[in-house]
Amino acid sequence: MSKKVLYAVHEIALGKFPAQVCDACGEQWFDEETSTKIQELEKKKGLFGLSKKSKVSYSGNSLIVRIPDSVAKFMKIKKEDEVIIHPEGKNKITVELV
Ligand SMILES: [Zn+2]
Repeated sequence: MSKKVLYAVHEIALGKFPAQVCDACGEQWFDEETSTKIQELEKKKGLFGLSKKSKVSYSGNSLIVRIPDSVAKFMKIKKEDEVIIHPEGKNKITVELV
């Protein structure tokens, strides 16, 4: 089935776009033209390519995860900023600026 769906990246809504939606499982696909349009919007808003790999390492007795520069800039995180770390189930951690 074809319908307009709201598309968001990193929790920021980019707008509604025409998509094919599977009646059985709800999975959504965008055609190439729409995908290109979405990617351009992501780039324009500085949201493109913000998901990056990082590794857990040690600092003294604590585990640390480095925040990529692009993510830090996007979120305006600075040294000494306070954050709340909360687990979301067993394979996701949310770091929230306070
Ligand atoms: Zn399906």
